[in-house]
Amino acid sequence: MTEAVVIIGGGQAGGQVALALRQLEFPGTITVVGEEPYAPYERPPLSKSYLAGEVSEERLFLRPQAFYAEKHITLMQRIQATRIDRAARGVQLSSGETLPYTKLVLATGGRVRKMSCPGADLPGIHYLRNIDDVRGFRDRLAPGAKLVVVGGGYIGLEVAAVAIKRGCRVTVLEMLPLVLNRVVAPEMSRFYAGVHRAAGVDVRTSTGVTAFEGRSKVERVICGDTVIDADLVVIGIGIVPNVELAAEAGLAVDNGIVVDECTRTVDPDVFAAGDCTNHPNSIIGGRLRLESVPNALAQGKAAAGAIMGLGQPHVEVPWFWSDQYDLKLQMAGLSRPGDRVVIRGVISERKFSACYLRDGVFVACQAVNMVKDFIQSKKLIAGHARPDPENLANLALALKDL
Ligand SMILES: Cc1cc2nc3c(=O)[nH]c(=O)nc-3n(C[C@H](O)[C@H](O)[C@H](O)COP(=O)(O)OP(=O)(O)OC[C@H]3O[C@@H](n4cnc5c(N)ncnc54)[C@H](O)[C@@H]3O)c2cc1C
Repeated sequence: MTEAVVIIGGGQAGGQVALALRQLEFPGTITVVGEEPYAPYERPPLSKSYLAGEVSEERLFLRPQAFYAEKHITLMQRIQATRIDRAARGVQLSSGETLPYTKLVLATGGRVRKMSCPGADLPGIHYLRNIDDVRGFRDRLAPGAKLVVVGGGYIGLEVAAVAIKRGCRVTVLEMLPLVLNRVVAPEMSRFYAGVHRAAGVDVRTSTGVTAFEGRSKVERVICGDTVIDADLVVIGIGIVPNVELAAEAGLAVDNGIVVDECTRTVDPDVFAAGDCTNHPNSIIGGRLRLESVPNALAQGKAAAGAIMGLGQPHVEVPWFWSDQYDLKLQMAGLSRPGDRVVIRGVISERKFSACYLRDGVFVACQAVNMVKDFIQSKKLIAGHARPDPENLANLALALKDL
């Protein structure tokens, strides 16, 4: 029987599985079922260069559409997978069709977490996950437009940076006392809040939205007793992993589809990759769900390898980046509240790294315009290095020499 791989989700992970399978000379059929009307594309530019109008839409795609046809990869677009029948090894589609498979990959990513307060569905309130979302509001980021960004995470701050440069009047509302609160040290949070304020963004922390108001569209954002005028609102408060198909099919789900280090689920014919997975990472010593492109690509390759019977584990130091203004923030490893923070460099010079030690072990590095530190920190993290904190703070010493 011909091998037939069906990949549910045509995002970064799904696209990567298909491409890697062909690179490994997989002989069977490959079908990518995608609900979006596009070939697999990169999302990071959506809140950065694409939103700023600096790169064209074509530049977003992992490969041109024709490439998939050349490689005999069938891309289904605007089609949703609605049910998995593991016993019959078939995927039901919104078109009414059922696709048989010999191996199935779930690469369903996540969807934006929505707000439910009064007025949350007024026109003019936007979320940002896909190309169509950007199209829905990019042209409205005009000089003088009043933009309120809800959520001081990466995506919210990146949108704020683009919008203020375009002459909008921008307010960022963050419910917690610090921006980027979930992931970085207070020093880093304060630095980023300061940079945004200096650029003209009104950053308000410890400020939760209680309602949106307006007649036919959003006109005001209500935060308790405070009223903020708005022409446009962009909400960035995280994502929810798309795990329902997997759960309904009886696969283990626990903040993500549970897989091993080779992306295998409990069913030997079903794999999962990308934002939708909960996977083990021996470097950080635990399981996690990661929302990052490097993880989606690495797991995509691992899934292709596992399908081909190679079964090479994917173990990588988690990493991520964010571009705001002239600042390139690159992060390796995962920090936690309570970690000791050692700063390398001078924060006010906009070129520094925050290094994190947990019980003396180097666990994470967040580097601002310090590419070398970022690259070298990965080895220290993977090797569970125990650098002397004083040496760590000494910029004259390269991280690789510690
Ligand atoms: C604005 C923005 C900026 C980002 N910036 C960065 C960054 O700077 N650095 C970084 O590392 N990461 C960044 N990320 C995160 C990164 O884009 C994701 O981690 C990555 O896209 C995950 O890939 P994925 O394939 O797992 O999921 P996705 O890219 O979400 O793809 C999943 C796809 O599956 C489809 N799908 C879901 N269910 C079904 C179904 N039942 N049937 C058919 N199709 C289905 C979805 O519509 C989607 O197209 C950013 C994300 C966003 C939104």
